[in-house]
Amino acid sequence: MIDKGSEDIKPTEGKSLNFLETIIEEDIRKGKNDGRVHTRFPPEPNGYLHIGHAKSICLNFGLADKYNGKCNLRFDDTNPTKEEQEYVNSIMEDVRWLGFDWEDRLFYASDYFDQLYEWAIKLIKDGKAYVDDQPADLISEQRGVPTRPGIESPFRKRSIEENLELFERMKKGEFPDASKVLRAKIDMASPNMHMRDPVLYRILHSNHHRTGDKWCVYPMYDFAHGQSDYLEGITHSICTLEFEIHRPLYDWFLDNLIESEYRPRQHEFARLNLSYTVMSKRKLLELVKDKYVTGWDDPRMPTISGLRRRGYTPESIRNFADRVGVAKRENVIDVGLLEFSIREHLNLISPRIFAVLDPLKVIITNYPEGKTEELNLENNPEDPNGGNRIVPFSREVYIERDDFMEDPPNKFFRLGPGREVRLKGAYVIKCEDVKKDENGNIIELHCTYDPTTKSGSGDQRKVKGTLHWVSVNHAVDAEVRLYDRLFSKEFPDELENENDDFKNNLNPDSLQVITGKIEPSVKNAKHPDHFQFQRLGYFCVDPDSIPDKLVFNRTVSLKDTWAKMNK
Ligand code: ATP
Ligand code: MG
Repeated sequence: MIDKGSEDIKPTEGKSLNFLETIIEEDIRKGKNDGRVHTRFPPEPNGYLHIGHAKSICLNFGLADKYNGKCNLRFDDTNPTKEEQEYVNSIMEDVRWLGFDWEDRLFYASDYFDQLYEWAIKLIKDGKAYVDDQPADLISEQRGVPTRPGIESPFRKRSIEENLELFERMKKGEFPDASKVLRAKIDMASPNMHMRDPVLYRILHSNHHRTGDKWCVYPMYDFAHGQSDYLEGITHSICTLEFEIHRPLYDWFLDNLIESEYRPRQHEFARLNLSYTVMSKRKLLELVKDKYVTGWDDPRMPTISGLRRRGYTPESIRNFADRVGVAKRENVIDVGLLEFSIREHLNLISPRIFAVLDPLKVIITNYPEGKTEELNLENNPEDPNGGNRIVPFSREVYIERDDFMEDPPNKFFRLGPGREVRLKGAYVIKCEDVKKDENGNIIELHCTYDPTTKSGSGDQRKVKGTLHWVSVNHAVDAEVRLYDRLFSKEFPDELENENDDFKNNLNPDSLQVITGKIEPSVKNAKHPDHFQFQRLGYFCVDPDSIPDKLVFNRTVSLKDTWAKMNK
C-alpha cells in the first residue's frame, strides 16, 4: 500500500493544509517579512532533473502561487568540476515544460561569488575564519565523532593578518588544488558535526561554466546557500530532510554576516522516494555514461525528460506531486501512484485507436473481395469534443494472436473454433476453420461474418467478446517500443552484500521492440501525440518517428480485466 506519510494539519476553510502551508499562513498572519512569500528552486546543474525534483518544483512554485508570492530559479553552481551548460539548459526546459515560470528571476550562485568572497574576508577580520594547510583526510579525522569533541587544527590560532594574506594568495592562484582551505572558526566540540569548523572555501583550478577562469577558490554549498537565499529575499527556503542538521550552520552564517532583521528561514520536508526507481543523480549519471540506457531522456529513466518522452504529461506529474503531499518523515511512494496519475489523465485526452501488436490474420470468407467499408468510430467516449474517425474494414483483418485459442476454457470470451465474437465497431464473426503451417503453427483463421450485425444498426445479438482489429490492406506498420519498469526489484538501492551493485537489479526485460499493425488514421501522427491502443494501453509517438516510419512508445498499460485474465 501507499504510505503517504504526510502530516496534514487541521483544515482551514474546509481543506487541510500541509505543514509548510501551516507555517506560511502563520508567518503571514504574524506579518513576518511584511507578509511576503518568496521561495526558490535551487538545482545543481550536474545532471538532468528527476521526478523527485519535479516534486520540489511543484512545491516551491506551487506555494508561491498559492500565497501570491514569487519563486526563483537558482542554479547552485558552486562546483565547476561537475557542472555543465547542457544541464542548465535541460533544467530550464524541464521547469517550463512542467508549467512553471520564474519570469525575470533566473539566478546563479556564481552571480554572488564576489559578495561571498567579501563575506569570507569579513569572517576572517572578525576572527571567525582561518586558513588551514592540512590535507582533507586529516581535517576529517580531527573532526572526530559526534559523541566526543574533535581536535583543533594547529592552524586555528593563525593571526588575522596571516589569514587575510593567505586567503588573498589562495584567490590569486598561488597554491595548488587542495593544498589549503578556508574554515569557519566555530566549535570543535559541538555535537553537530557541521559546526566543527566547516570548510568555507577550497582551491580548485577549474574552469567554471559561467565565470570561466576568474576564480580558483570556490565556496562550499553551505557557505553559498543561505547567503544566496538572503540576497534574493527568500522567505521560506524549502529543502529536503538531510539538510535539517545543516540548519544551525545556515543560521550561523547569516547571524555572523548580516545586520538586518530580515532572515530567510530553512524548512525541511521528506524527499520523494519511489519504489522500483533509483533517484540519485550519481546513479542516473552512471546509467547514462555506461550506456545501460540510451540517454538522460531514455523513456525508462525517472528523469523529467525521460517521463516526457515516455508520454507523461505535465498535468499528470503535477497531479502526482499533489497526491503525494508533503511529509516530514522518510517514506517510499508506490510507483503505481505515478502510473495511476498518467493513466487518469491519458484516459481523458487520448483518442482511442486500433492497433494489433501480435497479429494473426483473419479471412472473412463470405465478405466480398475488394470491398472496403468506411466505419465511422468515436475517438474518445470520455471527451465530448473528441470527434470521430474513419476506420476501413475489409475481407482480411488482423486480430491479436492471443485473442484466439484452439482449445479455449469456458471463461475465454474471445475467439475459438465455432465461437463468435464482435469485431469492435464492425460485425459479429464466427470462426469456421484454422489454417496451420507444416509445423502446426496457426497462420490464419477462416471466419464468416453476419451482415445483419453491423455495429450501430440496432442488431441486438449478444456475444460475449469484443475484439479490436486492423484491416490488413490498410494497416500501417509501426515500430512499437514496449517499455516496462527499469528495475525489477522494489527497492533497487538495497544491496544484498558488499559486492552487490544497484545495477544488478536492472530489469532485463524493460524494453521489447516489436512491429505493430496500426489503423491508418495515425499516418500523420507526430510526437508527442497520445493514443489509447484499445485494450492494450496508452502509447505516444516518439521523437524518433518520421512519416514513413512511425515509432510509438508504450507509456503505461491499461489496468483492465483482460490483463488480469492473462495472469
Ligand atoms: P541528488 O541527491 O539526486 O544528486 P540533489 O538533491 O543533490 O539530488 P539538487 O540539484 O541539489 O540535487 O536538488 C535541487 C532541489 O531539489 C533541492 O532543493 C533538493 O532538496 C530537491 N530534491 C532533490 N531530490 C529530491 C527528491 N527526491 N524529492 C524532493 N526534492 C528533491
Ligand atoms: Mg543538492
